[in-house]
Amino acid sequence: MGIGSWLVKHSKVRPERLALVYHDRRFTYSELNERVNQLAHGLLSLGVRKGDRVDALLLNTNEMVEAMFACAKIGAIFVPINFRLSVDEVLYIVNDSRAYHFIYDVRMKPLVDQLRTKESSVQTYIHVGSNPHKEDTVYEELVVNSSKSEPQFEVPFDGVHMMMYTSGTTGRPKGAMLTHGNTQWNAINSIHSTPFDNNDITLSVAPLFHIGGMSVFTTPLMYKGGTIILDDVFDPVRIMQKIHEERITCLFLVPAMWQALMTVPNFEDYNISSLRFAVSGGAPCPITVIEFFQRRDIPFYEGFGLTETAPFVSILDKENTIRKNGSVGKEPMHTTVRIVDPNDRDVPPNFVGELIVKGPNVMAGYWNKPEETKEAIKNGWFYTGDLAKFDDEGFIYIVDRKKDMIITGGENVYPIEIEQVLYRHENIAEVAIIGFPDEKWGESIKAIIALKDKSKTLTVQEVEGFLDGKIARFKIPKQVEVVEALPRNATGKILKTVLRQKTKV
Ligand code: ATP
Repeated sequence: MGIGSWLVKHSKVRPERLALVYHDRRFTYSELNERVNQLAHGLLSLGVRKGDRVDALLLNTNEMVEAMFACAKIGAIFVPINFRLSVDEVLYIVNDSRAYHFIYDVRMKPLVDQLRTKESSVQTYIHVGSNPHKEDTVYEELVVNSSKSEPQFEVPFDGVHMMMYTSGTTGRPKGAMLTHGNTQWNAINSIHSTPFDNNDITLSVAPLFHIGGMSVFTTPLMYKGGTIILDDVFDPVRIMQKIHEERITCLFLVPAMWQALMTVPNFEDYNISSLRFAVSGGAPCPITVIEFFQRRDIPFYEGFGLTETAPFVSILDKENTIRKNGSVGKEPMHTTVRIVDPNDRDVPPNFVGELIVKGPNVMAGYWNKPEETKEAIKNGWFYTGDLAKFDDEGFIYIVDRKKDMIITGGENVYPIEIEQVLYRHENIAEVAIIGFPDEKWGESIKAIIALKDKSKTLTVQEVEGFLDGKIARFKIPKQVEVVEALPRNATGKILKTVLRQKTKV
């Protein structure tokens, strides 16, 4: 039963240990295992078969975790979908994955009502919450009316248990097929590289439909037998309160969420001393954010990963944090990282190349996309599309995405470097550096900025004055645009494709 065996083991060895909390619902490992078994039988009774895709529009609730494990136990493939997508985007994923079964939270009803009007592969909708649509199967009834016995299924570790569509910040979403082995090795790698133990309690508030929310802390901690507190509303004040009330020991958030936490009024008044470690990943984290938490004695590490690598590729360790701020650390125990030039030769330390990854956490491929899979995985190496460098001690620094690099007057410019410096400006809340076509230089540099104090402004001359002496002159933006807020995707990533499109016109 692949990763489903974790629950079986915990319910035998530590049955009373608290596994999952969602508001007033609290499940021990043994209770969770029983509910997962019931749902698994329920899904079988609805006709879900090995290899079938079960798509879901769920929030960070116990049903999301239960559905993921229930599919795992019967060899089905769980496909959690980003609930902030438009109906056409959801329809694309549903039809691309050819799902016959679709689980959704009542809060997604307006979106699902629109989906029903379109031609899709879905035959059965499973409704979580009150007031179900009359034709739908009710999730809770499916659970309570089914057997608690262990489903008897042979599920190989190289079988796919989950498919996550990459967020599409650079193109049409592709379904990354993650195997039981991928998720288990990701957990093992994480446990090797971070101070996890089975008394840890995490708050899972980063969306679970994204690999960061699902598998930076949630699945590794479930492998370890720790406790997951779920929350489906991102509210910085509430997070501070929860850390205190639930004695949260470890927390993963994406950089935009960490930034939001910094703005909590009277931050110092909250007792968050239970937090043993904090991790940021999924996008570059401004160094100013890392320093903010470190100044408050919170061990803060930046990690790097992707959907296609389940996700963990590297993280900074306790000994080297602060000294190596800005680095994403070193490769984990069971995964190898190389940085190569376009001819696949390893580049020396301090030279920029593409980061490639090999290991048991690399996905099986993109669903129904053999060409894209061949392009991404060569001889077992996954090509991340991210530019990076090693320093002299082997620490990895993410330089930028290949697609975001700007070439101006023949010089390579990496936007993240300029953004990191600009984040030190007292009135810059958000910044994105992009290239725009320039007859003379090939490309020129533009800074798009959202200000903290919106009553003020920032001119190109002021930006130039601030950057002068801090970075090379050819990296100084030639245009500055001040905006209300930068466009971001559901996981807080700045959508540079949108900004580039706007700049072209
Ligand atoms: P798509 O592939 O469709 O564009 P996406 O790249 O946003 O979507 P994800 O798997 O969510 O898909 O994100 C992985 C990417 O996030 C990495 O390739 C990298 O560019 C970026 N990333 C993750 N962690 C970091 C980090 N610590 N620093 C810089 N970039 C990071």
